[in-house]
Amino acid sequence: MANGVINVAVLGSTGSIGRSTLDVIAASRGRLRPFGLTANSRLEEALRQAWHVRPRWLVATDPHLARQFAWGDLPPETELLVGDEGVERLVADPEVDIVVAAMVGMAGLRGTWAAVRASKRVALANKEALVAAGPLMMDLARQNGATILPVDSEHSAIFQALQAGNRQQVRRLVLTASGGPFRRHSAEQMAAVTVEQALAHPTWAMGKKITIDSATMMNKALEIIEARWLFDVPADQIAVVVHPQSIVHSMVEFCDGCVMAQLSPPDMKLPIQYALSFPERWTGPALQFDWSHMMELDFYPPDPQRFPALSLGHEAARLGGTAGAVLSAANEAAVALFLEGDLRFTEIVPACRSVLQQHTFEVHPSLEQLLRLDAWARQEVSKWICA
Ligand code: NDP
Ligand code: MG
Repeated sequence: MANGVINVAVLGSTGSIGRSTLDVIAASRGRLRPFGLTANSRLEEALRQAWHVRPRWLVATDPHLARQFAWGDLPPETELLVGDEGVERLVADPEVDIVVAAMVGMAGLRGTWAAVRASKRVALANKEALVAAGPLMMDLARQNGATILPVDSEHSAIFQALQAGNRQQVRRLVLTASGGPFRRHSAEQMAAVTVEQALAHPTWAMGKKITIDSATMMNKALEIIEARWLFDVPADQIAVVVHPQSIVHSMVEFCDGCVMAQLSPPDMKLPIQYALSFPERWTGPALQFDWSHMMELDFYPPDPQRFPALSLGHEAARLGGTAGAVLSAANEAAVALFLEGDLRFTEIVPACRSVLQQHTFEVHPSLEQLLRLDAWARQEVSKWICA
């Protein structure tokens, strides 16, 4: 850290979390500096961002798209890098203090992995990387003295609530879920859901993949697995409760019955900023409560029949090994098919279950094995394409 300024690399700066991260950096009054950005397909937006924040590095992750794009002028202080090698070079730059891992899906694994290996503080939004390779990633962090701090709002809430006691005193973690747009839908209504309906989330504005994951509640399944590795808590000590207002972001229940919750309006800028400012708290751009208005907080148990993804999440968290990688890859492929109109909404979870059950389970896989299974799971899901 030079002159007290924290250099931040934002992997996935053109996405929903990436853009919010740039807002947090802009509001930090010079404490944070946008040192590197990465973009995949939205290169025009990336170029605009580069002129706006003038980073040291700009990485275009897709070499083919990067070659086709008419770059014109870059800001004089910015150098262009391309592909996975570019991402690895950015995160390993000794001048980078914090890497915000905000690419979506398994594509984010390589950059997150390289950042952990380079002993950086990683502000982790890219939950799929941890779901797929949790034990390996946490081991790598221990070996290299890297810190992984959660950006996911539920895990940020738990991280904050855990500070009220010690790990031996934790009875369970309670993840809250908004329930998504279909929390009141019957099974019949769910069968007829369109892409447009599934993309209309009631409380959060996010990228497409996580929005569909919220509608199936696969997002919560992935978050169970994420919590299992991030906090080293067994799967049966991780509960889920539906809380439609998205005000309580999650809770920790201690052995004496005390429950610590973290509350704030639904705005990702708060957990992003906390992962960057920790252990300090800063005034920032996140929304604040207006206490002059009435506020209701509802909690109820999820319905495992209508949201079968949840039991898959618990199962994969219990199994560990290759289960997270297969579930996450199958889901990513199934969501892509649904968005293209090639798979029904209610087939997403059955496709994932089928692929999870078929795979050859391995308790202590290598990274290479996980990558092979990732490709295999996607292939298997493609067999579900609607006739
Ligand atoms: P978006 O779809 O909005 O953004 C994804 C980012 O990843 C974009 O910058 C995109 O680049 C980049 N990207 C996409 N594909 C690739 C690829 N193949 N290689 C490299 N980069 C790629 O997603 P979100 O911001 O919503 O989500 C990002 C991550 O954060 C996900 O893992 C999600 O689960 C997690 N998260 C998101 C939350 C939210 O509120 N949005 C909340 C909690 C977690 P480009 O746009 O240029 O193509
Ligand atoms: Mg979340």
